[in-house]
Amino acid sequence: MSIIFKRKNKKKIYTSQDTHKWKIKQKCLRLILECAKSSYPKEFGGLLRTDSKEKNTIIEVVILPGTISGDSHAVFQLHMLPIDYSIVGTVHSHPTSNPYPSQTDLQLFEKYGRIHIIIAKPYTEKSWRAYNHRGNNIELTVI
Ligand SMILES: [Zn+2]
Repeated sequence: MSIIFKRKNKKKIYTSQDTHKWKIKQKCLRLILECAKSSYPKEFGGLLRTDSKEKNTIIEVVILPGTISGDSHAVFQLHMLPIDYSIVGTVHSHPTSNPYPSQTDLQLFEKYGRIHIIIAKPYTEKSWRAYNHRGNNIELTVI
């Protein structure tokens, strides 16, 4: 199963879309922040879905039940992640003010998706960062 994921994602990871600017709807970001706040002190995890026409605009968060697993930030299990091309990446919260990816986070980013958001305490519109599949900080514009 994980091999299928890797192959599918490698194809997607290195497309020209990576150079496009990512955007997120403010409504969607606010919902993410709300979810993070209400999950605290547990971590919150979800998937980022884009518009079918505007492929680099994140419009929706798909909340995955039962993904939370404590302090390791291993909030996602690869076998639970769908192969769905409208889903471009992941979002999860940290129970601290540290918005940087853990080693486990980086392993996930590499295997699944093209954009990943980490929200840290206090879960405001300034306490999050976006990363690409390599774990590099990337720009994500709120629209
Ligand atoms: Zn994490």
